[in-house]
Amino acid sequence: MSLKLIREAAQFFVNHAVSKRIKPNISIILEFSPEIMRYNALIEKFEKYTGECEPVYNNGLRPREFIIRVDSSQSVRYILQTIAHEVVHVGQYSSGRLKDYVRTKTNKIKWDDWVYDFGEHDDCDSDLDYYMSPWEIEAYGMQVGLCKLYIKYRKS
Ligand SMILES: [Zn+2]
Repeated sequence: MSLKLIREAAQFFVNHAVSKRIKPNISIILEFSPEIMRYNALIEKFEKYTGECEPVYNNGLRPREFIIRVDSSQSVRYILQTIAHEVVHVGQYSSGRLKDYVRTKTNKIKWDDWVYDFGEHDDCDSDLDYYMSPWEIEAYGMQVGLCKLYIKYRKS
């Protein structure tokens, strides 16, 4: 898949998953690597991820800059789904709906007006919490729809 197409797909996902008002002020750096490792503070281990979205917080304001890292060893289909998934998180962070404190090692995530305190967990619980969290349910749900929309747009 060409870089031009990846750029176009990412822009398409931003158009559909980030608020119209915020969109013009957003910048995203896309990074590709065959192995995305991230420290999981919940289980105190490094884990392999297919993608991640890192908001850059400036003075505690709502983030406008993001680094999206994508596992480049995936097939084109899954690379697109990963980008779509992470762009949904860009929409969530940039609107202020989602705020994570995981990087500050407090293991707390704020969603709307709720603070989810993940505290201490073993592997099993942290996986369950991950897939059941409202921001992941939204991102997993939308990644498929966004890709279908994009493919439809490419064919038209
Ligand atoms: Zn996610």
